[in-house]
Amino acid sequence: MKKHNYSAGPSILPQEVFEKASQAVLNFNNSGLSILEISHRSKDFVAVMDEARSLALELLGLEGKGYQALFLQGGASTAFLMAPYNLMKENGKAAYLDSGTWATAAIKEAKLFGETVVVASSKEENYNHIPKGYTIPSDADYFHCTSNNTIFGTQIKDFPATNVPVVCDMSSDIFSRQLDFSKFDLIYAGAQKNMGPAGTTLVVVKEEILEKNGRTIPSMLDYAKHIKAESMYNTPSVFAVYVSLLTLQWIKAKGGVEAVEKLNDAKAALLYAEIDRNPLFKGAAVVEDRSKMNVTFLLNNPDHAAAFDALWKEAGISGLPGHRSVGGYRASIYNAMPIESVQVLVDVMKALESKV
Ligand SMILES: *Cc1c(COP(=O)(O)O)cnc(C)c1O
Repeated sequence: MKKHNYSAGPSILPQEVFEKASQAVLNFNNSGLSILEISHRSKDFVAVMDEARSLALELLGLEGKGYQALFLQGGASTAFLMAPYNLMKENGKAAYLDSGTWATAAIKEAKLFGETVVVASSKEENYNHIPKGYTIPSDADYFHCTSNNTIFGTQIKDFPATNVPVVCDMSSDIFSRQLDFSKFDLIYAGAQKNMGPAGTTLVVVKEEILEKNGRTIPSMLDYAKHIKAESMYNTPSVFAVYVSLLTLQWIKAKGGVEAVEKLNDAKAALLYAEIDRNPLFKGAAVVEDRSKMNVTFLLNNPDHAAAFDALWKEAGISGLPGHRSVGGYRASIYNAMPIESVQVLVDVMKALESKV
């Protein structure tokens, strides 16, 4: 039986995507060949890449607005260094919001390139909230933030207004909610949270901000080179791009990001309502910054852990334990998670209450 998969990443994808992807491994487009054995320069694969790039922009409402979408390798972790490499001037500076482990990792890379100002941090409170009320230096080359903190279960609801280019790591909430994406100049997202399998990273970049910082950039790390090569500078992760395309098509068929967001709102509301109602549990993040993708929660009495763990495992739930830096539990309820699976978890939380 298929499990209710709460894994934070790699993570759940729509069942029909798994089915179509497995078919393409056997016989892609009725070509008599597997998608894994054809040239990435073949007509069939170039069509996959082109559609994935244009559909990504379409779903974000960025078509015809000077943006380019790329499917690169190296994960979000390589984007941590590509952002400063492509945008920070020699002797320039960048501004970063420190909202969690991934933000910290991005800051570490930026420091290799130049002055890196941390405008605010919630580290002292173990990142249980999104810092607010900070000032972004108007002479920074860019401002970097993390829209959703996968580990701590917090999410930025209001992005700061600023005159400098905005770079955002949206790895764990891309395509989950509507935003005015034209306020961002560079967005990147590792596919394996909410978009596809591990192995490709979506990059959405406003072309006009590139090739302005005066640095000589190695080809593989140069966004402009990847744009010129139409995201085929070298062999792309063909399978990861294909499965990402299938997921983007699934989002479009559901009614786009707007429709998916409604479902995500309903799932998050259902689960947080139980966390707040059930006297055995408490949320880990402050209420106003709660993530609608990664729901972090704790047992008030750790002695109940064995009973709770047995109950959710029995119910066919997988991937629920929290990250070691928060403890407790983390329910990742990405786009592909059906509300029925969330109801199973809520029922288990209720069952624990009546048992202890
Ligand atoms: C998982 C994650 C990363 C790291 O992604 P990799 O693709 O493994 O490099 C970065 N940022 C966020 C917000 C993440 O959730």
